[in-house]
This record gives sequence, C-alpha cells and structure tokens, in this order.
Amino acid sequence: MEGKKIKVGASSCLLGEAVRYDGSDKYQPLIMETLADRFEWVPICPEVAIGMTVPRPPIQRVMVDGDCRLLRVDDPTFDLTDRMRDFAGQCVEQLTDVRGFILKARSPSCGLTGVNLFNEAGVCTATGEGAFVEILCRRMPELPVAEECDLISLHQVEMFANRVIAYHCSVVARTTGMNGSG
Ligand code: SF4
Repeated sequence: MEGKKIKVGASSCLLGEAVRYDGSDKYQPLIMETLADRFEWVPICPEVAIGMTVPRPPIQRVMVDGDCRLLRVDDPTFDLTDRMRDFAGQCVEQLTDVRGFILKARSPSCGLTGVNLFNEAGVCTATGEGAFVEILCRRMPELPVAEECDLISLHQVEMFANRVIAYHCSVVARTTGMNGSG
C-alpha cells in the first residue's frame, strides 16, 4: 500500500516481543506478515507499561466486593488494578489515530472475552475481559478488535483487515464532514 499506513494496535507479545510473564513471546506470523504491508503496528504491553518486569509473577483477575481486580497469583495483596486502570485511561487517549487492535487471548490484561475470573477462594467462577481491554473497549466501543485465536486463517485475517479499513474510512468521513450529516 502506498502512502501512510493505517495504525493498528497489538499486544506486544503477538508481534514477537519477549515480554510475557515467563519471558516468552507469542509471535503470530500469519497475522503480522499478511497485514504488514497495509498496517503500521502500535505495540503495547500493558503489564510492562505499568512497571512489571520480564519475567514476572503471573497475575489474575479476582472478584473482590463486586469489583474485578488484577492481583498477583502468588500474593493477592499485590493489587495492580488501579495502576492498570490509570495506564489504560492515559493510553487510550494516545490511541486516537489507531483503527483496530489485535489482542492476546486469555491474558488477564489483554484478553477480550475468555479471561478466567476467580473468586477470593481461588475458584474460577466465570470468564470475562482483561483489565486493559476493559478500559479500551469501554472508551473506544467502535474500534475493531480481535484476539489472535480468532485470526487463524487467511480469510479471518482479511475479514479483520476489512473491518479496520471500513472503520478508518468512517472516521475519515466523519472528520472531513463527508458523511452527509451536514
Ligand atoms: Fe504484555 Fe498483553 Fe502480551 Fe501479556 S498478553 S505479555 S500484557 S502484551
């Protein structure tokens, strides 16, 4: 694609950055190499961004008094919820030129739907979204988002690309007053 590429956010580990809790990455060659000519990746690792190390103790989402917190598995007194919410809020404000986001499935920070939610006794009672994504999707509800596990065929990758391009066009139309709304 000639000219400026459309910016798309991605969980850093999906781009091959070794930032996971165990020091590994989760590079997704099909997604990244198929779309590299059209999109400019904006890598974000929310856990590293809030100051966690690589490697680091794993964290999980735990329901505490009706609020879904982000706690260390080995020591629940380490509560990272507020730090993550603050970072996510600031980060979203910087993402106004991003037109899509590819997220790491099942991550307590980046997961979109199937993240294990535990009670205080350590029992998984439900599934939901990660702590970073919660803010991202609330603040940018129209943004096309997908997890890497839903982009495993070329067809699925191209469908996601179409959603991103359609959203980009709608934003351009809105901001240039070409949507007919006067
Ligand atoms: Fe970082 Fe998200 Fe990947 Fe975890 S899933 S390593 S928080 S980018």
